[in-house]
Amino acid sequence: MDVKSVGVIGAGQMGNGIAHVLALADYDVLLNDVSQDALNNALATIEGNLARQASRGKISDEAMQNALKRITTTLELPRLGQTDLVIEAATEREAVKQAIFEDLQPHLLPHTILTSNTSSISITRLASRTDRPERFMGFHFMNPVPVMQLVELIRGIATDEDTFSACKAVVDKLGKTAASAEDFPAFIVNRILMPMINEAVYTLYEGVGNVQSIDQSMKLGANHPMGPLELADFIGLDTCLAIMNVLHDGLADTKYRPCPLLTKYVEAGWLGRKTQRGFYDYRGDAPVPTR
Ligand code: NAD
Repeated sequence: MDVKSVGVIGAGQMGNGIAHVLALADYDVLLNDVSQDALNNALATIEGNLARQASRGKISDEAMQNALKRITTTLELPRLGQTDLVIEAATEREAVKQAIFEDLQPHLLPHTILTSNTSSISITRLASRTDRPERFMGFHFMNPVPVMQLVELIRGIATDEDTFSACKAVVDKLGKTAASAEDFPAFIVNRILMPMINEAVYTLYEGVGNVQSIDQSMKLGANHPMGPLELADFIGLDTCLAIMNVLHDGLADTKYRPCPLLTKYVEAGWLGRKTQRGFYDYRGDAPVPTR
């Protein structure tokens, strides 16, 4: 099946990046959100990011204008049922995602493939509540979408080969690389990355190092481009904690126990860059370690 049009649900930080890369690859994109403000902000962000790529010579002005023309925003979810592929990137709450797929179902074309960009919710469980578990899978982009090369493609237990091939062809056309993952908690990247971040927080909690020495050690000693605590602030500490809880609950192994210090930062509302404070304080000119 040849995908030509894509519906993207949720116009937050992931949804706008997904719409951006799809439009640049010549897909017609219908971007939906429940909030008109979110749609307006998404379009402004996409325009700003495309303009930056154009000013750096990465894309032509013509490609930028064509991409912008390919994106249509809408508050009406049923319109997305007429697309070939739906990528759901709404808030990471199972009840929200379930309601979206339920509302969309009566409006779907028979061939429409449904996917979710979820970082942690079971694809098999989301699929089982639709009329097409065989045409349902995980389509997991990394943040920031226009920059990151990888897309994890996650088969639910019922996903058929045609659905996988159609999604793989989309990833190829985006110029990105697909990694195939099975539907187990947090898939591949977060299954490996989050326990490392959690261990860095334990290292801080136990006083083995401070924020600066831990980040510096992993940058200079393991050649990581960002320290684990800096990276946690970038991802969002609430997101890191939520994924650790999914691993802990889903795999029932104490090695995934979230560090109490991570929980404390989240309780304080110190969620990282998005709230201007996490393992670093971002309110001044340069980030200052908070421990
Ligand atoms: P976000 O909070 O930036 O955006 C979510 C958007 O969904 C908001 O604009 C909200 O208004 C909208 N929304 C909520 N309910 C909706 C509904 N019923 N219909 C349509 N839109 C609705 O969140 P995000 O960081 O973009 O994450 C979105 C998804 O992507 C989540 O499933 C998350 O797990 C996944 N993800 C996030 C990252 C990351 O680093 N942030 C990385 C990979 C995957």
